[in-house]
This record gives sequence, structure tokens and C-alpha cells, in this order.
Amino acid sequence: MNQPTILIVEDEPKVAAYTRKGLEENGFTVDHAADGAVGGHLAETNTYDLVLLDLNLPFKSGYEICRSLKAQKPSVPVIMITAMGDIDKKISGFDAGADDYIVKPFDFRELLARIRVSLKRNAAVEQEGGGENILRFADLQMNLNEKTVTRQGIPISLTIRELNLLEFLMRRNGRIASRSEISEHVWELNFDTGTNTVDVYINFLRKKIDKNLNPLKTVE
Ligand code: CA
Repeated sequence: MNQPTILIVEDEPKVAAYTRKGLEENGFTVDHAADGAVGGHLAETNTYDLVLLDLNLPFKSGYEICRSLKAQKPSVPVIMITAMGDIDKKISGFDAGADDYIVKPFDFRELLARIRVSLKRNAAVEQEGGGENILRFADLQMNLNEKTVTRQGIPISLTIRELNLLEFLMRRNGRIASRSEISEHVWELNFDTGTNTVDVYINFLRKKIDKNLNPLKTVE
């Protein structure tokens, strides 16, 4: 991948400058928007490899930007930047289609790791192709080429990260997976970020695919 381009939408000058500097030092091309109106416009008109989105922004919130961007360009990875301890907002962020989130103040190395994982996943999704490649579990069906999921023939809309999680669980065919196994396989992160990302995603998946029929379980 050569010089991926990242859009940062962040109204706090210090956070924006720190993030931009770190990304540029690591070979990324960076665009920055300091408010939601400009950010939303840039995200929708330009082609970015990834969008870093603050939640609380002047003129247009991170959710609104994410929702409309994902409606137009579902494959662009979005990482939400949230304030410390804002669980409700994180969950709204996922509802808006965000692929990942990071809590402020963050360690730049963690942000970089998450960005790299998101970019790698996205590239892997785009490279897949070829013949029919279908995973089945109970009445759930996943088309690995098209990255689509149906249940009883009805399409279920999932983000890339949710797809990766579901694919991992379906491949286990009902065998229990621990949080750390899930975290390692789906996020490729083996350091403790102090967040409950796995639980949040499992809950989203459960809601989307109906918990009564699909015995997905997390164990301590
Ligand atoms: Ca802000």
C-alpha cells in the first residue's frame, strides 16, 4: 500500500496537530478538517483510505458524518474518536457504522495500530474474489466474496469489523471463543487497551442477527 491518505476531522487544534504529525511521520498523507461541515464535505467528495472522526464537532456531528459517508461509501473505514468514558456515545458511533473507536486521550501507538489493522482488513476484503465461497451456520449464510450476510434469505447489513467477527465465529462452528482469542483474531491486537470492544461488537452482532437463534457466546 503506498502513501494511504487519511482524513482527520477534529476541532481540537492540539489533538489534530499531534495526530497529523504522527501520521505524516509514519508515511501517511493527511487532510484535516476542523469542523463537521468541512469534514463531511471532504469525506464525501474525496477518496480516503480511512477517516478519523471526532464525535463532537461544530456544525455537524461525527455520527451524522459517519452515517452519510457509510451510506455512500460503505467500504471506507471510519475510526471514531470519543471522549473518555462516553459509552453511550461509543454505541451510537457503532450504530452510525463506525468500524472502530479510540478513547481520548489516546496513545498515538495505539491509534497507529488500529489504523493499520483497519487498512489491512479493508485491503484483504477488496482483494478477495474468485468462485462461490459461502459459510453457513444454522440459517445464517455469509458470502465471503461479496462480504454479505443473510439470515433465512434476508440480508443483514454489517460493518467490515462485524463481518470479520461473525466470520471468525462462524468458522468456529459453535465452539466457544474467549475474548482474547476473538480480540487477537478479529482485531489483531494483543495488548490490553482497557476497553470492552469485543463485548460491544458481540452485542451489536447479537442485535443484528437475533440472539434467540444463534448461540454465540463469550466466556471470561
Ligand atoms: Ca471535538
